[in-house]
Amino acid sequence: MRRFRNGKIVATLGPATSDKAAISALFEAGADIFRMNFSHGAHEDHATRIGIVRELEAQFHRPIGIIADLQGPKLRVGEFADGALQLEVGNAFRLDLERALGDARRAPLPHSEVFRALEPGMRLLMDDGRIHLEVTEVGADYAETTVITGGELSNHKGVNVPDAVLELSSLTAKDREDMRFALQSKVDWIALSFVQRPEDIAEARKLIAGRAAVMAKLEKPMALNSLEEIVSLCDAVMVARGDLGVEMPTEEVPIQQKRIISACRSAGKPVIIATQMLDSMVHAPTPTRAEASDVATAIYDGADAVMLSAETAVGDYATEAVAMMDRIIARVEKDPFYGQQMDATRLPPEATAADAITTAARQVSHTISAAIIVTFTSTGSTTLRASRERPLVPILGLTPRAETARRLVLAWGVHAVETEDLHTFGDMVVTAIRVAKNEEIADVGDAMAITAGVPFGTPGATNILRIAWVE
Ligand code: PGA
Ligand code: MN
Repeated sequence: MRRFRNGKIVATLGPATSDKAAISALFEAGADIFRMNFSHGAHEDHATRIGIVRELEAQFHRPIGIIADLQGPKLRVGEFADGALQLEVGNAFRLDLERALGDARRAPLPHSEVFRALEPGMRLLMDDGRIHLEVTEVGADYAETTVITGGELSNHKGVNVPDAVLELSSLTAKDREDMRFALQSKVDWIALSFVQRPEDIAEARKLIAGRAAVMAKLEKPMALNSLEEIVSLCDAVMVARGDLGVEMPTEEVPIQQKRIISACRSAGKPVIIATQMLDSMVHAPTPTRAEASDVATAIYDGADAVMLSAETAVGDYATEAVAMMDRIIARVEKDPFYGQQMDATRLPPEATAADAITTAARQVSHTISAAIIVTFTSTGSTTLRASRERPLVPILGLTPRAETARRLVLAWGVHAVETEDLHTFGDMVVTAIRVAKNEEIADVGDAMAITAGVPFGTPGATNILRIAWVE
């Protein structure tokens, strides 16, 4: 089972995709990584889906990535006496820590850290940004506001505070419990929602302790102030355009998307573009032209992966959405302009032995028209450096560790395969040839540029480049 594209597809599982037939259909249509959204569903639902994904792995002999996406500190208003109320433009409205049900003049907002961080002039956005309040006065347990954009506000609607850094850990008590469960279930990635500071990543990493890779969801403007540091601390990034587009003006999202892709490519960290990519396919068998163009743009910009959320979690056309994404990516990658783009936006190597070997491997593969670049890796780091080069040929990532293979699935252009542990240089070439033929990624007579580190099993010690021919 081989994909003929560099860009990867992340599909969110949900009520529409709970049984083996549905998840298998998504995989066969092109989904490379599955995302479990811990904002919804019980642990047992997630456990069932995780079990099914691992069965598919065994059945198709391909590693598949699993992301556990934690809800994070999503703020919500409390409840109203009538279940909802109408906010009128220009009116005063108060938010506070009182337990009493809300009415036309006030509502409970049970998050004391919000009041500690608010200042007059700051914005409070509610219900995905549909309602906009401006803070006029703040106390320890209340805020007075003026309604700038009104509308209906009902129980438990989400609240965004885009202007303040909240004293919240990006991990709530629920997140910690979900994380414990996800790690027990051996997911490959823990995705952190509403990351604000580099410290949020450091804190999560300590708890995760190497049992999964760490993904930062960028959906707070504050995180963009320390973008480079956050990127350097995590293993991958998601451009979470849903909340990002609420927290900052819509017209900022495309600019930040390009900026984040560029920062991630520079650091050699995989980056996913997420949310509303084929949104109209939740209820329709074909996307809008604008959506097709959105997926294409992410691929032209060199993103590692594009993601489906509601389209596959609750959509009426889940498999069709994956198939459509697969076709858009494959088509873009056939465009000569795409190759030129990858070449023109290539990043200079860092001054390390691994990068020296990796850049040379790319050059060699182009010069002798090699069919593939083969990387031997234990942690995956060398393979990620090869992916960072955005070469014109596929990268075969060989690793003795199943968890490394699963993580590498996310990386641009990488076909990851778990192999036995190798001890000699000769074994390495023999294995590269055998796997390349088995996986139908190279034919007899094709050249391969192989990178490895000697002595074997020393992470980050890539120091050999070898040309070999498939025989
Ligand atoms: P969510 O994250 O779907 O968990 O909210 C993605 C986003 O905000 O775009
Ligand atoms: Mn979000």
